Amino acid sequence: QAKVAGKNCYRFYSRVMDQAVERRVRMEQDLRGAWERGELSLAYQPVYRLESGKLVGAEALLRWRHPEHGPVSPSLFIDVAEQSGLIEVIGPQVLRAACMDARGWQRDFPSARELFVSVNVSARQLRTGDLAAQVETVLRETGLAAQHLHVELTETAVIGDEARVSSLLARLRNAGVKVWLDDFGTGFSGLSHLRRVPVDGVKIDRSFVADVLRDPDDLALTTAIIAMAHSLGIHVVAEGVEKEGQYAILRERGCDLAQGFWLGHPMTNQEFARLLA
Ligand code: C2E
Ligand code: MG
Ligand code: MG
Ligand code: MG
Repeated sequence: QAKVAGKNCYRFYSRVMDQAVERRVRMEQDLRGAWERGELSLAYQPVYRLESGKLVGAEALLRWRHPEHGPVSPSLFIDVAEQSGLIEVIGPQVLRAACMDARGWQRDFPSARELFVSVNVSARQLRTGDLAAQVETVLRETGLAAQHLHVELTETAVIGDEARVSSLLARLRNAGVKVWLDDFGTGFSGLSHLRRVPVDGVKIDRSFVADVLRDPDDLALTTAIIAMAHSLGIHVVAEGVEKEGQYAILRERGCDLAQGFWLGHPMTNQEFARLLA
């Protein structure tokens, strides 16, 4: 009896697993060529300076509208793109489009001359291919000045091949590009990395920001991250600001920049241009 149940159980789970694998394989196939078919686009989320309340830049966030299933969650399809290696094709397309759009804002709006665009780069793009050469080419071809491009890397992307990643980041920073550590605080090694990996700033993960008003520990951690970053001479962005109170307390604690639904949702390039106008 148990043996039969066990066998059925195994069959059941293996079928569920097959389905999950199948879904990812299908997603990978659908994602291939999605950029060329116009299914992928960039959304821009405004980033503000807390002290002045001024708009200072935008984070580029990839969106995929599947022809049959509609919008697909970025965390899902970006994971598939990373696992399959497709990100090595899509990543450079994102970089180029974001730089072109940012150049467009600067050209069309006098108030946008100093705006930056922030592009997410995945671990895989750091390990394979020559990101620094890619960035240099895109900046030259789009005419965007290096200081107006930020790249965001997660802590986990940096772990492991630290020597190689550090020299890559040093090359980017020497060229004038700003480097940010994304989702900061969620990795277990956190602060110690900042000594070895040269970055311009950290983005405090929104899981901390979410509870700064309710949880004294999260407020203490956030305050400590800000103080520590500043003492190392690096900047801090808070992500996921959804309430005025969060904005106020982050500002009081000296956080430099912020983004979040309370300040502005990710929007199309046209909507962002309207915001500038
Ligand atoms: P991320 O880089 O940490 O981006 C911030 C995420 O938080 C975005 O999710 C954004 O829509 C969301 N967000 C912004 N403000 C708020 C808020 O106030 N509340 C809440 N609950 N969420 C907020 P999204 O667009 O779904 O992207 C998820 C992740 O996918 C990104 O996290 C990033 O790691 C990755 N990603 C997005 N675009 C790209 C890309 O072009 N390349 C790569 N490699 N990764 C990307
Ligand atoms: Mg990011
Ligand atoms: Mg983040
Ligand atoms: Mg994230």
